[in-house]
Amino acid sequence: MGSGTKSLFDLSGKVAVVTGGNRGIGFGMARGLARSGAAISLWARDEARNEAAAKELATSGVEVQTVGCDVSSERAVEEATQATLHRFGRVDIGIANAGVGAAADSLKLKLDEWHRILAVNLDGVFLTLRELGKHMAGREGGGKLIAISSVSAQHGTPLQPHYAASKGGIESMVRSFAVRLAKYDIQVNAVEPGWIETEATATGFANQKLKDAILRRTPARRLGQPEDMEGIAIYLGSDASRFHTGDTIRVDGGYAIF
Ligand code: NAP
Repeated sequence: MGSGTKSLFDLSGKVAVVTGGNRGIGFGMARGLARSGAAISLWARDEARNEAAAKELATSGVEVQTVGCDVSSERAVEEATQATLHRFGRVDIGIANAGVGAAADSLKLKLDEWHRILAVNLDGVFLTLRELGKHMAGREGGGKLIAISSVSAQHGTPLQPHYAASKGGIESMVRSFAVRLAKYDIQVNAVEPGWIETEATATGFANQKLKDAILRRTPARRLGQPEDMEGIAIYLGSDASRFHTGDTIRVDGGYAIF
């Protein structure tokens, strides 16, 4: 590998926002970016967990900021954007990862619960892309926006119509932002993780029958881990993806094709 290739993935001097970066997939992506040299601004609600994650990320030798933020609140996302700009002066990479899921029978799902999921997964991603996109478009130098969808955007999920709708919406939204922001050299993409072991999936994976069924359908024959998301974060956050926009990339060990 020549030195030119190596520099494609170098993120030193870059600043990345990761929403929901204090654990799980967001933390895995933040760690990938930090390992490539990016400073991290980590937005999530639980301040103690934010601090613990920041401490771990800082072992990569990069600067890490934490911002208490509920991404479903317009004001909170605006304030978090300002707090990040105040600390670092710019944002180059934004990962809208914060999300929640819950199982509910499609025929019994209450409207309040529908709204609760969409408020975080759809409003939160929209607000994050809008605020960071506005900042990136208003200065020279381009940028990278990444939103975390799910294979549930494609599958029939009888117990998660709200979650599935939010993830399908993210993929459509990403294409709108990609076209709107292309002239500023800002690339906008979505990532569709498959089954990843995190707190969000712990209860599901405690059910051995479900876990076995998932593993049978996964050619990689294992569940994904947060660190499996490092590489896609680096690729989509770096110059390596400079002509790649409006896409959805699946990272699922082959689950969706089997
Ligand atoms: P997780 O372990 O439960 O982590 C969720 C993260 O989001 C936490 O950092 C949490 O921090 C943050 N968060 C939740 N609500 C928030 C809010 N209102 N405002 C700001 N931050 C909020 O979940 P995960 O499995 O890593 O999932 C991360 C993303 O990947 C989600 O969008 C999820 O839908 C998606 N995904 C997961 C899987 C999987 O198999 N695990 C598969 C496909 C897609 P606080 O609680 O401190 O706010």
